[in-house]
Amino acid sequence: MKLLLVLPRNDRGYWGKVSKSGKAGFVRLSLPTVAALTPDHWEVEIHDSRAHPVDYGSDADLIGITGFTAEIPSAYEIADGFRKRGKTVVMGGVHVSALPDEALEHCDSVVIGEAEAVWAQLLKDVEEGCLKEKYQAKSLCSMDNWPMPRRDLLDRKMYVSGFNTIQATRGCPFDCDYCAVTSFFGNEFRVRPVEDVIEEIKTLDTKDFFFMDDNIIGRPKYAKKLFKALIPLKRTWGSQASINIAKDPELMELYAKSGGRYAFIGLESLSQKNLEKMSKGWNSAKEYKDAIKKIHKAGINIVGSFVFGLDEDDPSVFQTTFDFIMETNMDSAQFHILTPLPGTVTYREFKEGGRITDFDWSKYHTAEVVITPKGMTAQELQDGYFWIFRETYKMSNILKRTFRSLSGIGYRFAVNFSYRKKALRMPDSPNPFK
Ligand code: SF4
Repeated sequence: MKLLLVLPRNDRGYWGKVSKSGKAGFVRLSLPTVAALTPDHWEVEIHDSRAHPVDYGSDADLIGITGFTAEIPSAYEIADGFRKRGKTVVMGGVHVSALPDEALEHCDSVVIGEAEAVWAQLLKDVEEGCLKEKYQAKSLCSMDNWPMPRRDLLDRKMYVSGFNTIQATRGCPFDCDYCAVTSFFGNEFRVRPVEDVIEEIKTLDTKDFFFMDDNIIGRPKYAKKLFKALIPLKRTWGSQASINIAKDPELMELYAKSGGRYAFIGLESLSQKNLEKMSKGWNSAKEYKDAIKKIHKAGINIVGSFVFGLDEDDPSVFQTTFDFIMETNMDSAQFHILTPLPGTVTYREFKEGGRITDFDWSKYHTAEVVITPKGMTAQELQDGYFWIFRETYKMSNILKRTFRSLSGIGYRFAVNFSYRKKALRMPDSPNPFK
């Protein structure tokens, strides 16, 4: 039996793209993990449609497709293409799990939620010719004996200058309204045995890697054990982490000592009212400056993430946020326009309120306005987003932040230049506050 797993593409946004020379950034683990769950008598191939056109003449018995919301139109197009040629197609992932009936218009079967517990049964049903429309596990899977993702099936040439990735935990102890992590993975924070994570890291062929975890410090006791075990490996890494890391000096010290050079931190908004409204009131905006100082002092670079278009935002939010980034010497920052991703509380509320203006999923890459904002016009939101991106990554502003310290300066330059490349592709737009 033969299984072809396909990664779709999104041509509108700025993230997750493959460069003209065919290079990708982070390794996406979803398909290599599904491949690892597949029994040995199935031959598996992974095709990345971001890099190569899809060959619809494949002799595979089953086509598996997953993708983010912004990639879903491409995923449906690929699914339709295979089905036209008589192939059986199964889809899964966060978007498909949120809208399984929409997906079933393009495929034969959907996996709702985690695939681990149902994948073997689904394949058996394919073999026996009794594939069901929906597969959904009754409970969350255990992270003990987690399969090692089949990285050997990836096109390594695509990742020579990119990052290996790995996952140590699943889920997040929090449940922010705009985020689909908890609705997809449940609100139980699960961890892999530290020994298993270390063994997998030893197999990676790069010194640098990225934990794909939504919040690597979600369980501080586990994180400390993991970081201690990482120290002898002398690797360098980054991850997403909540700002709460600043409250635990030992955690920060171990993060840095184990090679944690940077942390993606979801600051989201400088307005406490916004944070409260998105169920992220545990982030304290008034403590951000102090927290950033502490994280910097521990030797960790910060990539701050901000969302615009929240109900308390008016056109001044872009200038205020930019000033904050420069004042705190934030190493780099990533910006998003509030996007109601299916499966989230934000999606439900905006849909019920008639505030979603566009259901073209290809625009759901967080750089395009698809909602009616409250405190500004849609045009102001779009302009402000482009303005702050370009302003933050102006050469003079990069230099000011990068030179905050000589330690780790090379890394800061590299990250800033990679964001600058994206910023320069955005339209030169006015600051809506001026
Ligand atoms: S803290 Fe981050 S990962 Fe966790 S629910 Fe909020 S946005 Fe999602």
